[in-house]
Amino acid sequence: METFKHIIDTIQATQNITYEQLDYVLTHIDEEKAEYLYQKARQVSEPIFHKAVYLRGLIEFTNICKNDCYYCGIRCSNSNAERYRLTKEQILSCCEIGAKLGFKTFVLQGGEDPYYTDDKICDIVRSIKNAYPDCAVTLSIGEKSYESYKKFYDAGADRYLLRHETANEEHYAQLHPANLSGAHRKQCLRDLKAIGFQIGCGIMVGTPGQTIRHIYEDFAFMKELQPHMIGIGPFIPHKDTPFRNEPMGSVPLTIHLLALLRLVFPKALLPATTALGTADPLGREKGILAGANVMMPNLSPVNVREKYMLYDGKICTGDEAAECHRCMELRVQKIGYHVEDSRGDHPDFVL
Ligand code: SAM
Repeated sequence: METFKHIIDTIQATQNITYEQLDYVLTHIDEEKAEYLYQKARQVSEPIFHKAVYLRGLIEFTNICKNDCYYCGIRCSNSNAERYRLTKEQILSCCEIGAKLGFKTFVLQGGEDPYYTDDKICDIVRSIKNAYPDCAVTLSIGEKSYESYKKFYDAGADRYLLRHETANEEHYAQLHPANLSGAHRKQCLRDLKAIGFQIGCGIMVGTPGQTIRHIYEDFAFMKELQPHMIGIGPFIPHKDTPFRNEPMGSVPLTIHLLALLRLVFPKALLPATTALGTADPLGREKGILAGANVMMPNLSPVNVREKYMLYDGKICTGDEAAECHRCMELRVQKIGYHVEDSRGDHPDFVL
């Protein structure tokens, strides 16, 4: 226990992690040691975030995707997926419902759907910002050119989420077809940051072939990138993908990593993801108690929820937006935290 504690204390003090430290922590951790780690993560998080959990209203506006990622249920070659797109009016009515519930951030997420040209995205962003000027708009629509990202930013988009999935090129190639590269995805993140977006990167935990060395490389990449937000959740297989028979990522490992991320990136926004809540009914609460501070209730119309099926068993597909919002509020309160109705920008970000 003493060695473990010493390593955790060093990670906290240096806000950095070596491969040897990561390997030691992940291979020696047990319940008692995990509690020490989580307690440290809370100790780092509380003076900065004061037990606040920020809510983001998630609008899954298209499940049409030109990519064929091996893990993803909306990959283009899944002919069983029933495809949909939301109109601008439908997106705006999701925002209207969200604004009434108190959301100050809307996250527009979708597959890489060529129907939504840059002009269409900019028009949607402008319309949301006109209607809700005090709200932040986050885009999560995949890999685009620097010029496209710049147009989105100039139209008023504030943030961009693009998980890098894995920092290791060979591992990236195990998860994606040859037309996609980790190097390009990383470049997109650097472009987004240079343009001025608050950016979110992240990984799935437990994807086929993932090793502790890969996870260390993720930490190293993120140390260099300094993202504002880091989204991690367990990989969950989807029945209509090449990874259908692969095992689900570990919930405890995801929680340990959230806590380590909190020690290395004290001010980062760390979501307790839907995948974590799908893999374990109390996964999101456990995530918050290990340093996570963001939740993303679903604002998509209920009739499309089941169609945005990235993995099997995805939760919250039947609840109306208001129910989702209330449910998150209660879950957060139950563990002694509170949801905060603010934009929830990164602490170093000045408007
Ligand atoms: N198209 C955009 C992009 O590429 O960033 C956003 C949508 S994409 C479906 C959002 C995220 O879902 C991915 O970055 C991936 O990490 C996650 N995801 C996809 N399939 C998953 C699975 N089977 N298990 C867990 N997470 C998954």
